Amino acid sequence: MKLNFNLSSCVRSSAINSNCQRCIDICPTNTIKIENNIPIFTPDECISCGGCVGICPTSAYSLDNFNMIEFIFNHFQTNEVLSCRQNTPCLATFSIEALITLSLGNKENITLDIGHCATCEIAKNLYPQIKNNINEANFILSTFSQKKIEEKELGLESIEKTEVDTRSRRDFFSNLKPTNLIKTKIAFDEKIDGNEAKKFNFDENTINQIKTKFIPDIRKLFFTLMKNQDKPKIYETINSDEISFISQKYIDQSKCTNCQICYRICPTEALNSDKNFSIINFNSILCLKCYLCHDVCEYDAIHVQKEFDIKEFFEPTNKILAEFDIKRCDECGNHFTYFGGDFTCSRCKTEEEEALALHNIFKKDFQ
Ligand code: SF4
Ligand code: SF4
Repeated sequence: MKLNFNLSSCVRSSAINSNCQRCIDICPTNTIKIENNIPIFTPDECISCGGCVGICPTSAYSLDNFNMIEFIFNHFQTNEVLSCRQNTPCLATFSIEALITLSLGNKENITLDIGHCATCEIAKNLYPQIKNNINEANFILSTFSQKKIEEKELGLESIEKTEVDTRSRRDFFSNLKPTNLIKTKIAFDEKIDGNEAKKFNFDENTINQIKTKFIPDIRKLFFTLMKNQDKPKIYETINSDEISFISQKYIDQSKCTNCQICYRICPTEALNSDKNFSIINFNSILCLKCYLCHDVCEYDAIHVQKEFDIKEFFEPTNKILAEFDIKRCDECGNHFTYFGGDFTCSRCKTEEEEALALHNIFKKDFQ
């Protein structure tokens, strides 16, 4: 398996002031680093554990040969125990949202084999993350459902034995096919480059993709399945710190200047506006809690609500967080956010101030 990184989905590609470093903190080999504000990694040092795949809020990382959405759909048919020794990469690849989605689509409880995790050589960063994901997913499930993610310690001597035997035989025969010879050649070429740090560039295509808003597939599937769940009689509210993949927000309008940055930069359009930029709207079900809007707000005007209302999963809201008075500038005729005083936009005001300053300098010099 090989790790892929989609630069245009990474929050760091949108803003130099993004503080996100979840992938760097989780990586057990410390191969992910930041250079020129974007992640780089060395393929030979990457063990394709998938820890970064499971923790990235915007799904910027993926593993070759492991498509999470396909896996989830297959799992709905089989409900096999999820085990890194049998059918999955490291269990940390499964985000909290993915674990809840697996649970929602299965009639029975899903089970994770964590028997091997505590003693695994990459346990230091990943085991706490796996436990945390299971605990948070179970906590969220408990607010509206009887489902529970179960943990099991499988006695795996027999599984390991058959796996090794059949896999080595299968690999041997499949490698004889011409298509696999080509794949081997590609893998060999990649191996040669593998010890160099992989850097990602902003080409025209990437820039266009950054501008395109997207909703990760796992979020689409999560909410599609949520629609089929029975609504609880009473909706619980939970502390926002207890849910890491979605948020409800508010804006302190005394601080907000309607600079437009947060809603222009939000990757999913959870934050958006109207055509005159007279409101800031918020659609909680689209929010990935990536904190990009917080990182870019110079005025510390946007905040996560202290409590998250589970009702949002069942009756999503589209809330207006701020409203502004939009006027036409007397000088240039463009729209601007009016906070009182002259009907002049900030750009015309600045130009006027600069012109006045220049005029005073000239007056002083030629007197
Ligand atoms: S909340 Fe902050 S970033 Fe968003 S429009 Fe207001 S001042 Fe700008
Ligand atoms: S609203 Fe903010 S935290 Fe939520 S997805 Fe948009 S930028 Fe990220």
